Amino acid sequence: MSKYLILVNKNHKFKDNNFHLVETNSAYAKVYLEEKTYQQFLKLKDYIKKKGYDIDIESGYRSYEEQELVFNETKMQKGLEHTLKYVAKPGYSEHQTGLALDFCLKENNNFYVDFEMTNHSVLEIVASVSFQFGFIIRYPKGKEKVTGYGYEPWHLRYVGKKAALDIYKNNLTLEEYLERIEHNARNS
Ligand SMILES: [Zn+2]
Repeated sequence: MSKYLILVNKNHKFKDNNFHLVETNSAYAKVYLEEKTYQQFLKLKDYIKKKGYDIDIESGYRSYEEQELVFNETKMQKGLEHTLKYVAKPGYSEHQTGLALDFCLKENNNFYVDFEMTNHSVLEIVASVSFQFGFIIRYPKGKEKVTGYGYEPWHLRYVGKKAALDIYKNNLTLEEYLERIEHNARNS
C-alpha cells in the first residue's frame, strides 16, 4: 500500500514517520510540508490561479507542541465543544504527518482563513479539482460521524492520485476507502 495512505484520526494516533519535510514559500506563514505534498499543492495552486483565485498555505506540518498550542488557543477563543469538533488533540492530528494542509485565500492583499471563506466560490473549485493533484477534502460535509470532525473544506490531505480519484468518485472518506481496501484484501 502507498506510504501516503496512513490514517491519523481520533482513534489512530500519529506514529512517527520518515517523511521528508521541505520549507514552503507560503506568503501567509512559515510552513513546512512533506515534499511530494508540496509539489502537488503548487500544481493545484497554479491551476486555481488560472481560474482567477490566489490560494496559499495557512498551515501544514505541525509538531506535537504546535498542535498543542493550536488546540489550547482555539479552546480559549472558541470553547471546548467547538475545539473538539474542529481541532485534533495533540498526537492525533494529520498535520503532524506533513501530508495535510489548510489553504487560505488571498484577495486584495488580505488573507482569508477557514470560516472566513465560508460560501466563497473558490471552495467549490478546489473541491472539484483537487483529486487530480492527489488531494482529498479530508472532512467532507455529511461525513462528520465517520471522520469525527465538522466540515472543513479548506483542509486538504495528500493521498496520491489513484486513491484521491477513487475517494472523489465514490464520495468516500479516507476511513471508508481504507476499510474497502481491507475488505477486498480479506475476500480475495
Ligand atoms: Zn487542517
